[in-house]
Amino acid sequence: MPSRELSARKRIAMVAHDNKKKDLIEWAEFNKVILAKHELLATGTTGRLLEDQLDRPVKKLLSGPLGGDQQIGAMIASGEIDILIFFWDPMEAQPHDSDVKALLRVAIAWNCPVACDRSTADFILTSPLLNQPYSVNIPDYSGYLKRKID
Ligand code: PGA
Repeated sequence: MPSRELSARKRIAMVAHDNKKKDLIEWAEFNKVILAKHELLATGTTGRLLEDQLDRPVKKLLSGPLGGDQQIGAMIASGEIDILIFFWDPMEAQPHDSDVKALLRVAIAWNCPVACDRSTADFILTSPLLNQPYSVNIPDYSGYLKRKID
């Protein structure tokens, strides 16, 4: 099976819908010391709030509905993101629902760990694998890529 090597320092992408931003910021503040060892990326508004709260640089992409979710999805597909923390809102439809679905789909397609709530994020952050190198198995898509098109 193909694989991808992650270093001990992980590239962690964060996205939170508006009703979930407070939750994500609180969680990040609580885990500030653990997160300090890793690189943070986020969609535009989430990134700005994280930077203000944590007082450290966060690589900010476009705002989610303006293409930020798709940028993060593309980075996952290119192997530029190791972990996705995505607090999406289960109670409200989003203008960019199709992007939300696409981001979740591409993360699974590349076996990228995803936390969509605080408890799963806690489990990921307290995993011994967080601070050590890790080999991610990537699904073998060679059969798909070589499929015959009539
Ligand atoms: P935002 O985007 O961080 O720019 O608000 C979040 C989202 O994808 O809805």
